[in-house]
Amino acid sequence: MTNNISGWAALDAKQKLEPFTYDAGPLGLEEVEVAVEFCGLCHSDLSIINNDWGLSKYPVIPGHEVVGRIVAVGDHVKELKIGQRVGIGWNVNSCMHCHECLTGQHNLCLQAAPTIIGHYGGFAERVRSHWLWAIPLPNALEISSAGPLLCGGITVFAPLLIHGIKPTDRVGVVGIGGLGHLALQFARAWGCEVTAFTSNLSKAEETRAFGAHHVVSSRNNAEIRKVANSLDFLMVTVNVPLDWTLLLKTLKPNGRMHVVGAVLEPMPIPAFELIMGQKSVSGSPTGGPAMLATMLDFAARHHIAPQVEHFPLNKVNDAIGHLAAGKARYRIVLDHVGPF
Ligand SMILES: [Zn+2]
Ligand SMILES: [Zn+2]
Repeated sequence: MTNNISGWAALDAKQKLEPFTYDAGPLGLEEVEVAVEFCGLCHSDLSIINNDWGLSKYPVIPGHEVVGRIVAVGDHVKELKIGQRVGIGWNVNSCMHCHECLTGQHNLCLQAAPTIIGHYGGFAERVRSHWLWAIPLPNALEISSAGPLLCGGITVFAPLLIHGIKPTDRVGVVGIGGLGHLALQFARAWGCEVTAFTSNLSKAEETRAFGAHHVVSSRNNAEIRKVANSLDFLMVTVNVPLDWTLLLKTLKPNGRMHVVGAVLEPMPIPAFELIMGQKSVSGSPTGGPAMLATMLDFAARHHIAPQVEHFPLNKVNDAIGHLAAGKARYRIVLDHVGPF
């Protein structure tokens, strides 16, 4: 097999993607190469294409919600076989020997290598990763919609594990979009009583179908005040500034507001709201390989799946426009049908 890999790349910030071929060189001893079948389009792909976080390295081949089959394995890869179906998410590598890696928190490794920064991602015919970061997919999972679980899904699943959320807990989810509609499904299957906070009440029925017991308008402060002191855990999935003081009031004593949406503006958090009621504010980034495997297993068992819209990969710029316009319902998956 040739080491040339064709895909779609942004050659500079805010540019449309165009066909691009790179020489991937010899396969690393611990690497696998995956022929991509489906790849989710995540909001973080947009952020990296546009260099919103100042971290991008061009050319950028986006795509970090990869589903595909292994087509080559390095000489030191023992656990994965050619033909096996795997998923690759936000990271493709980590150091494997720091404290975080050794305790299964590889996503917190300071040397963790993102799939689409300084590495070419999944909007391509093939993509490479360290074998540990290529997560075997459960057979029961519907592969055409599984991609978004690998970044969007793990982002909202990990907090439930990290913070020991119990089935007796009452959980709120702020923002019912790509992340939020998955958070509702996970929290409901977890056994929690679930409250959705959405700016779009026209989606209330759909929101209940995803698992919300209650739907509250996030634009109506009086409605939010009615659920004051009711939640154990509030997951914020939006990336726009909100009235954080008001949202903190929805928490019970010992409650926690957990941020997974990349709000770029600093968040003013009043100390008094934390002190009275002993409340916490926290955040988390995706998850490590073990947590990814646990999430996929849980999703398969409870039939949790993102609601997706499909675009062929060669219409990737239309898909990006659709997402940037806020029209995605609720995640986008690119189908890797040739030719590239
Ligand atoms: Zn490490
Ligand atoms: Zn993502």
